[in-house]
Amino acid sequence: MKLNKIEKLKLSLKPAKFYQKIEKLDPTNLTEADRFYLKNFGIYNTKLRPDKFMLRLRIPGGRITKAQLDAIFESAKEFKPKILLTARSQIELHDLDFFQLLAIHKELEKRGVTSFQTLTDNFRNIITHPLDGVGEDSIIEVYPLILKMQDLFLKKEEFIGMIPRKFNTAISGNLSSPQPFFGNDCYFALALKDGVYGFNLYLGGKNSELAQDADIFVPPHEVADIFGAIIQAFKKYGLRSSRTKTRLYHLLQEIGIEGFKSKMEEFYKNNFLTRGKALVRKYKNTEDFFQLKDNTFAFRWKTKFGEISWEEFEKVLTLAQKYEVRIGIDQNVYFLHLLQKERLLSHRSQNSTVLVCAGERYCIYSLFDTKSKAADLPLDLLEKYNIRVGYSGCLKGCGRHILADIGLVGIRTNLFGEIERGVRLYLGGEYTTGKKAARLIFWAVPLRNLGIMLRIIIEDFLQSGYDDFEQFSKERLNKFSEAAIAYYYLQKFLHKDVTLCEFNNYETIKLLEQEAFKLP
Ligand code: SF4
Repeated sequence: MKLNKIEKLKLSLKPAKFYQKIEKLDPTNLTEADRFYLKNFGIYNTKLRPDKFMLRLRIPGGRITKAQLDAIFESAKEFKPKILLTARSQIELHDLDFFQLLAIHKELEKRGVTSFQTLTDNFRNIITHPLDGVGEDSIIEVYPLILKMQDLFLKKEEFIGMIPRKFNTAISGNLSSPQPFFGNDCYFALALKDGVYGFNLYLGGKNSELAQDADIFVPPHEVADIFGAIIQAFKKYGLRSSRTKTRLYHLLQEIGIEGFKSKMEEFYKNNFLTRGKALVRKYKNTEDFFQLKDNTFAFRWKTKFGEISWEEFEKVLTLAQKYEVRIGIDQNVYFLHLLQKERLLSHRSQNSTVLVCAGERYCIYSLFDTKSKAADLPLDLLEKYNIRVGYSGCLKGCGRHILADIGLVGIRTNLFGEIERGVRLYLGGEYTTGKKAARLIFWAVPLRNLGIMLRIIIEDFLQSGYDDFEQFSKERLNKFSEAAIAYYYLQKFLHKDVTLCEFNNYETIKLLEQEAFKLP
């Protein structure tokens, strides 16, 4: 197999061996190889912004202690980096210089907050429901399993940067989740078999593809062993030539899910059980408070799509003296065990159904500032009707636009007169069951027209009689082709009478797009 250039680097020097060299690096003269190696320790830098560094902190299961929050605050307060919560329950510290970052990194490592293996070819932070173990619908507490799984690879030389590509893992013992998990390479989803609660296994997801049902039921006591077999099989058999085809998804494309299971058998000596009954059900948005099993409440503080200010971080720290804190997979902060419903902090956003990727201010791939543009969406309606939106700044899809009712991906387009910002628009994800990804309906909707188009789609949903957008998609939109849906909503945009029916004339759709979106 012809190895890609990153694999050749790993052969010349294992990433774990690079760690001792970090302090001696000249940050004004980093090579692309240096940048690859640094990523294995959660340190991110690009040649486009050579003086800015980011540190990504691993927060397994989103659980963070008061002592860990203290450590972050004390090590970083002098430099006041920008703070971002990610959809993998991590904390990112942005806009540091190299030496500030190193000082924070060293202090945090001493105090039990690691940034190891949070970027590039690593097993990333393992995520779960923010109310794991305490929520009313929590059946199995998975945090102890997460720690066992993490122990298999974290800070182990043979795994640091040594797998073919990044690998995302989720496990949930709750019946529903504020974010779907089918975009993970490996997802243990709550299930029941022969009266025993455990997990059905899904493999090969990524931001642009849904994970496949592996037809394996995993009892809780087998999770770490099965996970061990998965990570060993991926390390040994994963593809390492074309860099763009190295995820588990690509291996499954090549050898099939049964082929991969036979590779897992090399590392797992028991027989696989066949799938159990899937128990995952639709997540209902319940405002800001959640009843917990012990009759206390959790409060969800809505950040600004993951952004929190330094002052807000300080307030979170103060509240952590009294309440348990968790970082949610919805980029929000959860405070646990309130005796009564109490709004502990003022929300930064009125919406909890929109997931937004890092965007231009934090990511060089973004075509614009998705976080500020998300504020222009009809957030009140999206929240009120529990309509899930995934907003990505580019096709890498960190905003999970295919696992949403409405998916948006930033683009630049000159289709309608002059170069301007817009989005690709996706509709109809069946994300609760992971059965169907949202489909691309419009290749380009200018941002200036997006609000109106979304209101038309939402209005259509409200008039349909369905009370759940995902159901509306499944039973109505997804019965028709992408072209038929595009035609239907373009006609509505142009105030014409129309009924949804099959339609495949792309030339007509192009003309309608010009009529609808052309600059005056
Ligand atoms: S989706 Fe693209 S722009 Fe957004 S964070 Fe991911 S890589 Fe960056």
